[in-house]
Amino acid sequence: MPFFKPQRSLSFATGAGSLPAEVLAEIREGLVSWRGSGLSVLELPFTGAKFQTILAEAEQDLRDLLDIPASYRVLFLQGGAFAQFRLVPLNLLRAGESASYVETGYWSARAMAEARALCPVVVAARARKAVPPFAEWRIPPDAAYCHITTNETAEGVQFHEIPVLSRTPLVADMTADLLTGPLDIRRFGLIYASAQKNLGAAGLTLVIVREDLLGRGQDVVPAPLDYTRQARAGNRINTPPTFAIYVAGLMLKWLKRQGGLNVIAERNRRKAAKLYAAIETGGFYHCPVPPPHRSSVTVCFHLPDAVQEAAFLEAAAQAGLLNLQGHPAVGGIRAALYNGVTEAAVDALVAFMAEFAAKHAHR
Ligand SMILES: *Cc1c(COP(=O)(O)O)cnc(C)c1O
Repeated sequence: MPFFKPQRSLSFATGAGSLPAEVLAEIREGLVSWRGSGLSVLELPFTGAKFQTILAEAEQDLRDLLDIPASYRVLFLQGGAFAQFRLVPLNLLRAGESASYVETGYWSARAMAEARALCPVVVAARARKAVPPFAEWRIPPDAAYCHITTNETAEGVQFHEIPVLSRTPLVADMTADLLTGPLDIRRFGLIYASAQKNLGAAGLTLVIVREDLLGRGQDVVPAPLDYTRQARAGNRINTPPTFAIYVAGLMLKWLKRQGGLNVIAERNRRKAAKLYAAIETGGFYHCPVPPPHRSSVTVCFHLPDAVQEAAFLEAAAQAGLLNLQGHPAVGGIRAALYNGVTEAAVDALVAFMAEFAAKHAHR
């Protein structure tokens, strides 16, 4: 029997992520003429009423979906999550203050290394292939914030619960899992996420920040990346990433049409459960992350050896299942199951895995 062959190639890339076909069709329309205006969305002046409508709707839809309290500001920045690794300490620390970090994998380690260049950093807790138990975290009382990475995209580890910190503002890199399910925003001082994983196009970085954390920034921060100045200016300091904001707006409306984040979370849970079940079946594949810590958005697994993994990736690509290679620092196989990845795509991957295992196991 031939491998399942879908009509359009299916991408499981961790970034840029897959987009719903419906959203791609809307993007195509707006590229030619935005809402019948006769102008492409790319041609709209950012200070004009039309683009300001796009921006205001995107913010309102985000607020509706995540139930963001009025005491939080939403910023539409550039530079990706990586720029935030330094912008967080630059914007939140007063001179002489320290920061604490929870290290759970590749991305939190990168965030911490960038912060270390600017301020004293204390590791509150550290674990690999797991989220350290909250009771074991040691956050110094004078730390200006505690930083976590809610989904470790390279290793496939995810926070399935968010701690309640009584005095220290919690800062989270949610690049891989923001909007994949409901969230209690009140537990956070600040959340950041680049858009190309669950929210469409590269170029936009969302920052959701509690108002009382503004006003601490250091003067060296360029104005477009200064939380306080951008919040004051309503994201109009300079030209924002208009196309990426437009695409994010379409993704947010699509999420609403699906029924909101509870429905999306249920769908994402089903997708992940199917894939982990396929990994657990037959002993050919294995996932090194213990079940309670496994990510529902970036699923990482291995085959018996690197030769089999290379053969798997090649056969998968021939079957139209693309971008399944693991993060270079980790190796193995990795499938992103972001919001834009359909259940049908996961079914196709699972069917392919069963066929591949049947052919290649016990040889
Ligand atoms: C992808 C990713 C990043 C890097 O995002 P950029 O937009 O490329 O800077 C950072 N953190 C996490 C958790 C990621 O998944």
